[in-house]
Amino acid sequence: MADRAARPGPVDIKSLDRDGLRLAIEEHGAPAYRARQLERQLYARGAVSFGEMTDLPAALREKLSAGHTLDVAQIVSRQISSDGTRKYLVGFPDGVSVECVGLPEGTRLTACFSTQAGCAMGCSFCATGMDGFVRDLTPGEMVDQVRAVAEDFGRRVSNVVAMGQGEPFACYDATLAALRFMNSPDGLGVGARHIVVSTCGLLPGIARFAEEPEQFTLAVSVHSAVQATRDRLMPGVRGMALADLRQALVAYARRSGRRPTLEYALITGVNDTVAEIDALASFCEGLRAHVNLIPANPVAGTAFVAPPAQAAASVARRLSAKGIEASVRRERGADIDAACGQLRRRDG
Ligand code: SAH
Ligand code: SF4
Repeated sequence: MADRAARPGPVDIKSLDRDGLRLAIEEHGAPAYRARQLERQLYARGAVSFGEMTDLPAALREKLSAGHTLDVAQIVSRQISSDGTRKYLVGFPDGVSVECVGLPEGTRLTACFSTQAGCAMGCSFCATGMDGFVRDLTPGEMVDQVRAVAEDFGRRVSNVVAMGQGEPFACYDATLAALRFMNSPDGLGVGARHIVVSTCGLLPGIARFAEEPEQFTLAVSVHSAVQATRDRLMPGVRGMALADLRQALVAYARRSGRRPTLEYALITGVNDTVAEIDALASFCEGLRAHVNLIPANPVAGTAFVAPPAQAAASVARRLSAKGIEASVRRERGADIDAACGQLRRRDG
């Protein structure tokens, strides 16, 4: 309270959501359409300073730069896989960095971005989880990762997935703000149906996501439909009853009219037994969800092993025979540790 009279410091313009940009513009007495121009400059064009936004009046540019900082994430390093996948280390001004991935496939280019530096959930099979939590990312830091992928490939990103480092629903507002910039015609212009958010299953986030007007796609990491196994694999959501997760998915599908995807990392002898797969089938009954089977990717420091390809295919067949739609996800970028769950925290 003692600091009430103190001038607030400059606000990072890329920490704001679309409404925040509109308010900032209104505060400077400029008409609302200037907010869309500002959004285009920041995200469609990737401006590095307010000064270069020459479609905005000079007086407005000056006010913006007096009250706000503007930073652009930088690619620190890049690795290219033999299958064309590219993994990037992207750095922010405070020295924090995260990994993101570009996956080209025909006319599609998918960007996999991080929502946090590190992750507090501690899943035992995930490189990010093993490294602990650093901080949430801002909306701009998320969008900039996707921009970096587009720029490096020299073409537009057609699909985005929040499947990098971090738990998107642990920083719900920033993630939603980023998705909206990615979806906006004044931002990256990626179709909402081509934007996927993957969560370890935080129930309040699932409930909120069901209410969002956009047709974003929800993916939920299940990994085991046996409570004791799931609690062991995913300590961050230990104590969350699978029955409650299932109920949240039923409510999500009813409310949003959309079908969730379930992710299931197959780990030999842990969650690929007949009993485990039958439990998964019961969990899925009536959900009309699609199950994505991901043969567990190797992570140094864990003893987890993926079942061979035929075993994964037979799990998919077993589910299909029970009326559950299932497919095995093809591994990408394995030679550069760019596959699901392999992204690590890098300092400095
Ligand atoms: N935190 C979110 C999103 C990021 S991880 C989540 O957990 O859903 C994206 C997906 O990769 C999740 O389904 C996650 O469980 C999975 N994953 C993590 N480590 C993996 C590994 N070693 N092999 C295969 N999939 C893994
Ligand atoms: Fe976090 Fe997802 Fe990794 Fe679990 S799997 S530690 S929730 S990033």
